[in-house]
Amino acid sequence: MKFDLYLFDLDDTLLDFQKSQNIAFEKSFSEFGILNAMSLYFSDYKRISQNLWDQFERNEIQKEVLRVRRFEVLFEQYGIQLDAHKFSDLYLHHLSDNNFHIEYSVDVLRAIKDANKKIGIITNGIKAVQYKRLEASNLKTFFDFIVVSEESGSAKPHVGIFEYAFQLAQMPKNNAIIIGDKIEADILGGLNAGISTCWFNPYNKQNSTPHIQPHYEIKSLLEILNFK
Ligand SMILES: [Mg+2]
Repeated sequence: MKFDLYLFDLDDTLLDFQKSQNIAFEKSFSEFGILNAMSLYFSDYKRISQNLWDQFERNEIQKEVLRVRRFEVLFEQYGIQLDAHKFSDLYLHHLSDNNFHIEYSVDVLRAIKDANKKIGIITNGIKAVQYKRLEASNLKTFFDFIVVSEESGSAKPHVGIFEYAFQLAQMPKNNAIIIGDKIEADILGGLNAGISTCWFNPYNKQNSTPHIQPHYEIKSLLEILNFK
């Protein structure tokens, strides 16, 4: 096992966020009496939500604002008469309740733990949601520590959240790696923090930010176990 400290992103790296999001979106709308929300609104919602998360990563918007604002914008666009606060609460409830492992996540975490290496989570997601998802997915026991950006006062790609993680790990960063699916947050963050970086890219996406280059690129989590 090449590294002593493995930092994992959570969403779409260990847990299939896209699948959870689809279910939470459809269920929440149907409980408010709106059917076919996926085909009607989902692509616009994803764009709106992604824009707001990008703003969050640039320190331009608070997470508390983002979680409601994305639905306010969508509802305004389509003239939907729903309370965005209530809708957001219901959506986050369903998001917490529907969890799916990314292929091989458990096998890889178990192998790293069995090798007595440290493992941490480093996520920008919403704190209450992320802790519930880690519990419900039975992944929580693998981690020596969990860092949600709300707790560290800093979010990926900023260096503060990584320094907070190194403190919790009680080890220097010189043999650490971050594994994540998002170049602008996970890889740029790892580079900013001066550690090794691994881009989890299962669908062979193009790197749209070629000035940011990961040390490793993998299609399957299993490849982590073969790093030389
Ligand atoms: Mg992610």
